[in-house]
Amino acid sequence: MKDYGISLNQHCPCTQQECPIRGNCVLCIQNHLVNGRHLPECIQNVLRPAVKDLAAQMELKIDDGRPDAAFWSTYDKEGLVNRSFARHKKSRKKGKKE
Ligand code: SF4
Repeated sequence: MKDYGISLNQHCPCTQQECPIRGNCVLCIQNHLVNGRHLPECIQNVLRPAVKDLAAQMELKIDDGRPDAAFWSTYDKEGLVNRSFARHKKSRKKGKKE
């Protein structure tokens, strides 16, 4: 877990150990909001039991689709860090104007 000096949660429960911004909540949430494809894992952990129970009531099966080691082995981690900082800087500038 790397501290980028913005926000670090030493107790981040995310299982994505290879994620270069793991534990940096501000960067993590900004990323998830921009892509909008899925929630940060700490929030998934809150919802997962309820969704599993609901799915079971509907006779649906749920697979775990979280990124695995193969995903991270080819993922552009440095690019993620760079994009995260660019978004963070942009959001700070926007916030100062308002
Ligand atoms: S917001 Fe992201 S970095 Fe922060 S605790 Fe949740 S999963 Fe971890």
